[in-house]
Amino acid sequence: MSCFPWQQEQWERLCSYHAKGRLPHAILLEGPRSTGKQAFARVFANYMLCSSPRNYEPCGSCHGCQLLKAGNHPDLVDMEPEEGSKTIRVDEIRAFVASTALTPQTAACRIALISPAEAMNQAAANSLLKTLEEPNPGNHILLVSHAPWELPATIRSRCQHLMFPLPGKQEAIDWLTAQQPDDEWPGLLDCVRGAPLKAIEFKQQHGLDSYREEKRRFAALLSGKANLVEVGTAWSKDETGMIANWIFHWTLDLARANESGIMQMHDRELAGWLKDLIPRMDSVKLFSVLDKLSSLQQGIRLRNLNAQMQFETLALELMEAGE
Ligand SMILES: [Zn+2]
Repeated sequence: MSCFPWQQEQWERLCSYHAKGRLPHAILLEGPRSTGKQAFARVFANYMLCSSPRNYEPCGSCHGCQLLKAGNHPDLVDMEPEEGSKTIRVDEIRAFVASTALTPQTAACRIALISPAEAMNQAAANSLLKTLEEPNPGNHILLVSHAPWELPATIRSRCQHLMFPLPGKQEAIDWLTAQQPDDEWPGLLDCVRGAPLKAIEFKQQHGLDSYREEKRRFAALLSGKANLVEVGTAWSKDETGMIANWIFHWTLDLARANESGIMQMHDRELAGWLKDLIPRMDSVKLFSVLDKLSSLQQGIRLRNLNAQMQFETLALELMEAGE
């Protein structure tokens, strides 16, 4: 059991802190979604709770490792939203904070894993703050976050930050290919902003089909052959912001081609479909769409009932750009 190859540096850093007895009380593991931060936190918790680690990895066979495998180690406190809920309950955090005054039950320390940390509401965050301000020795908190900017500044400032950037594209392709050989990994990675674990999920859900479908819809829209309400409905159902991200890249590609010629386009398929239209496109409209998409992407988690309308406006503008 070990971390992903692109997390080696972070792993060595934490192991070195630990070996020197200087592991921070609270560590915020932050970075893009679906790159394996939570898995990393879990393996590291296992490493900390293992009684005989070897070569900076948990042994997998001691009492602590056995308890972890069975999912009932008393010194690992897992805090995440319950199924169907988006928030971590305040009483869970309170119970953990109360337990930090006690001696760990079987291991040398107690580990709390909070994931995603931004799922704590204000009351939960306030409760956690108490133990961050006055930590009890022998307790460590690993907070995993895809959106650390949503955490209260008081929490952020009391954690040691550990960044998990996306792996390099070739590194991700090599790892994915080792899991399962497939020529489509580079294309799949492009669709999911380079996050390897998301690429696997995307492949299982036949994501490339929906990618192609959306691309056809996008091209149809620019050619004035799509229904705005239908497009708005389809796009506004996208909870993850993935479609908005695709539209952003296609639009950017078109703006580039509109300015510097069709040979500059990355997406050759789209270039082929729209080659007659591209030189005539309204670049002001294209840039306005890019602007709107940026603000939409930033607010994607906070989207309200207006999502449909916002996407319809966007679709209309794209349609006008092609007129
Ligand atoms: Zn062990």
